[in-house]
Amino acid sequence: DLKNIFCGDSDSIKVFVRVRPLTQGTGLTTDGDQGLCLSVTSPNTIRLHSKPEPRTFTYDHVADMDITQDSVFSSVAKNIVESCINGYNGTIFAYGQTGSGKTFTMLGPSDFDNFTDDQRGVIPRSFEYLFFLINRESENAKSFLCKCSFIEIYNEQIYDLLDSASASLFLRENIKKGVFVEGAVEKFVTSAAEAYQVLSMGWRNRRVASTSMNRESSRSHAVFTMTLESKETAKEVVNIRTSQLNLVDLAGSERQRDTHTDGSRLKEASSINRSLMCLGQVIMALVDVSNGKSRHICYRDSKLTFLLRDSLGGNAKTYIIANVHPGSKCFGETLSTLQFAQRAK
Ligand code: ADP
Ligand code: MG
Repeated sequence: DLKNIFCGDSDSIKVFVRVRPLTQGTGLTTDGDQGLCLSVTSPNTIRLHSKPEPRTFTYDHVADMDITQDSVFSSVAKNIVESCINGYNGTIFAYGQTGSGKTFTMLGPSDFDNFTDDQRGVIPRSFEYLFFLINRESENAKSFLCKCSFIEIYNEQIYDLLDSASASLFLRENIKKGVFVEGAVEKFVTSAAEAYQVLSMGWRNRRVASTSMNRESSRSHAVFTMTLESKETAKEVVNIRTSQLNLVDLAGSERQRDTHTDGSRLKEASSINRSLMCLGQVIMALVDVSNGKSRHICYRDSKLTFLLRDSLGGNAKTYIIANVHPGSKCFGETLSTLQFAQRAK
């Protein structure tokens, strides 16, 4: 409808908070003596046990430790995948400190290599649903072309995860494609299984770069983009629409206050903090715009926001999954994640 086309939809940015289980795979105490710093008080509120007063935060959805991967997918991604099929761009971000479950949420368990695993995350489930919808639509004389790219942003440099030999790449824009990474590999895929192969290849390259190129993956953003081109074959005038689905595993949001941080690590830390801060500012500005205010949106202040410019705001749908750790040792980072997520409301 017209309102949505011209003003954006005030519902276009949503926030989902996911509390990870206390003990699995954290290196934190497993003996149960660690207290909890929060409780989930309803399907959209969370109470942080801050002193002297507890604080309650409200979001579109709050999921406690026992939520299944399937229900995270249904709440967060289903709707976005459906709108991509209908020609709208969509973006899903996983935000949170290292160890809070971003990769688990987006991809699955860390040793994940099984496409049918119950614990597979939002990305593989999105592939499956996307191709389920594509196959259904093709019965209605609509055909789709899908291609994937997978890049990493590290220290404000862009690397192609589908071509580990390539040097860092640049962002360009033109009228036809909008903003794009010049020279990034794009792989055509015709099924969820093929998309999944592309994902695994990129993920392997990311792990390798983390050790051999010293691009530590917890400090980089990984952006998987699926571009869809749809064509209504039965019509006289062929109607082609293009849309993008961006699935983003963000760099760890923790503040780097380590005293023995050397020069290059410090540079990394400040570029992560800057790019996440910039994302927060863009999101806040978009929330203002969708509430009818006029605001300048600083997409160009970071590589991540510029790359995603056409998939944030306007008709695009965005979901931020804010991952938090419930342990009391994580109180400070959990507070800062909840505050970041609050800005999007
Ligand atoms: P991040 O990507 O934010 O650094 P990970 O997703 O790698 O965090 O999570 C850290 C560890 O905790 C991994 O071993 C992961 O499998 C495990 N983990 C995270 N969230 C969950 C969850 N909801 N259920 C079970 N294990 C989880
Ligand atoms: Mg991770």
